[in-house]
Amino acid sequence: MQKSAGRRKFGENQGMIDTTERVWADLKERLKRSKFRLGIRLNKQDKAYFLKHGSDKIRQHAIDFVNQRLAPAQPARDGKQTPYRGHPVFAAQHGTGTCCRGCLDKWHGIKQGVELTGTEREYIVYILMSWLEDKVLQ
Ligand SMILES: [Zn+2]
Repeated sequence: MQKSAGRRKFGENQGMIDTTERVWADLKERLKRSKFRLGIRLNKQDKAYFLKHGSDKIRQHAIDFVNQRLAPAQPARDGKQTPYRGHPVFAAQHGTGTCCRGCLDKWHGIKQGVELTGTEREYIVYILMSWLEDKVLQ
């Protein structure tokens, strides 16, 4: 697989890539301070699934999950909508504090009760893919 396909795809221009890479680096530092987030791993099956389907397909799944499970102003079963296993993106969500609207608020300053904007959705997918690529390349 290509090393940083997710990162390169996010922004077209160099400035944007710089900015988003810094965002991920800063978030990673903050996540390290949470035993819970740090303890979330990509299990063997999830890693195999990622490698089998590749970044582009997994990114599409991440987009679908974000649109369906997080984007509405009042997502169904908010707080419990993200399982702990069954898809690599689920693990990434728990690992990055993007599992529910409460965590999005706490970790990313994204307010609850309002539908996610396009930029916020892109940001979440970028964070998820960054986490996954880090884990897969480890
Ligand atoms: Zn959560």
